[in-house]
Amino acid sequence: MSGRLAHHRPAVHGNTSGTGRAVHRVSVAPAPTVSFDDRFARELPEMAVPWQADEAPDPRLLVLNDALATELGLDPGALRRPDGVRLLVGTAVPDGAKPVAQAYAGHQFGGFVPRLGDGRALLLGELTDVEGRLRDLHLKGSGRTPFSRGGDGLAAVGPMLREYVVSEAMHALGIPTTRSLAVVATGRPVRRETLLPGAVLARVASSHLRVGSFQYARATGDVDLLRRLADHAIARHHPATADAEQPYLALFEAVVAAQASLVARWMLVGFVHGVMNTDNTTISGETIDYGPCAFLDAYDPATVYSSIDIGGRYAYGNQPIVAEWNLARFAETLLPLFSDDQEQAVALAVEALERFRPQYNAAWSAGMRAKLGLPDGLDDEVATALVEDLHALMQESHVDLTSFSRALGAAARGDAEPARLVVMDLARFDAWLERWRALGPDAELMDRTNPVYIPRNHLVEEALTAATDGDLAPLQRLLEVLAGPYEERPGLERYAAPAPGDTGPYRTFCGT
Ligand code: AMP
Ligand code: MG
Repeated sequence: MSGRLAHHRPAVHGNTSGTGRAVHRVSVAPAPTVSFDDRFARELPEMAVPWQADEAPDPRLLVLNDALATELGLDPGALRRPDGVRLLVGTAVPDGAKPVAQAYAGHQFGGFVPRLGDGRALLLGELTDVEGRLRDLHLKGSGRTPFSRGGDGLAAVGPMLREYVVSEAMHALGIPTTRSLAVVATGRPVRRETLLPGAVLARVASSHLRVGSFQYARATGDVDLLRRLADHAIARHHPATADAEQPYLALFEAVVAAQASLVARWMLVGFVHGVMNTDNTTISGETIDYGPCAFLDAYDPATVYSSIDIGGRYAYGNQPIVAEWNLARFAETLLPLFSDDQEQAVALAVEALERFRPQYNAAWSAGMRAKLGLPDGLDDEVATALVEDLHALMQESHVDLTSFSRALGAAARGDAEPARLVVMDLARFDAWLERWRALGPDAELMDRTNPVYIPRNHLVEEALTAATDGDLAPLQRLLEVLAGPYEERPGLERYAAPAPGDTGPYRTFCGT
């Protein structure tokens, strides 16, 4: 690992010229002993622009993930001290670390943008965690970079805490996701509709490789770069595929499988990502970029929360199809690595992509069986009919997905009243209950599968509003509740309840 800033000439240039500016601005103060690797920057210098974070006038730690810090081999106590906080906003870079802004492209709402990249983020470097896994430490809201385009490079406290809360909730639910290590208020105001306090999120991921990273590499026309990127992805995420007869095809198949499983998990828990652009689709199969995401309350496949998703492209029910579409874009980038014969390359890609639907369906069906506590070995037709009939009932009655699923657990134990209370067509529901109960549903399996506590939109908003006003107690409380989503605890009734009826349709905003 080297502390040199640039041992190459980056192939990407921005309007904020050069990398020299960064060298003068940053205070390279000694930070807590952290040893960063710079593997991405070394192996893919064309996609890594050495850069530094903006100074933070008055950094204040708002929340720190002690357990995650420990998992990363970092000392939470040291991270709380001034040097540690400066590391978490990127203004004290440890010796040898080489922060970079990563280049990527992407389809945004279906339109290709050849150059997106980290416009307000930096990869500080890679850490080896206590289990020997390589993890990215990444900052969001750390200032302008050569990829900022019209943006200010900044982030506000509210949206960064939102990503912290929702990503940690997803992790507690057992869903693959980037993690959140800390949010630090910078003391710098950010101009949105109003002036808001600024913040930096310290994010951890098994990597930040995206479908958009491959689209960027492919668009350069440099097949060697594309191959190095694929090799890097194989080594980091799917090392077993290196020994396959066709490693790049095996990489693609592995990503198809990981995304099929991920999106099935989202659907089962009612998660709406909100902005499934190809630059927000990871190679690792982790959920990334919590912008306008939200959890379903009223069950309806057409649900859209994001204010900018006018056409409903990323509606709840569209997510599997969109994932498949994004994977098709991924396949296109890999064609030159599949075969020199383009026709053959396309045929291989199509065949591999065709596995997405059966894999998604298998993951989703298995998840639905667990949600309904169905016994092993139950006939497919019986299970499918039960699941379909239930979804029709849920949609008609717009039931709250989370509390209703949990109420079915109570019904499996003999108390169907909580579930019956929210369904309109009782005659049909009673008939459904009879069919289902005759199968002897496993209530304990249901309780291990159906969460009680999810980051409900109104609870998240309430905690973020208080935090933005300086009161962090509701946020801490919410984080504690969400850390144990499956175990119902006394005194937490309001965290399990659906949104009060008077809140109106929920809207999320991307201008974060
Ligand atoms: P996102 O919608 O957060 O996935 O971001 C899409 C693209 O816009 C990425 O290239 C981001 O880096 C960039 N971006 C988002 N917000 C800002 C901002 N405030 N300043 C600069 N770039 C931004
Ligand atoms: Mg993004």
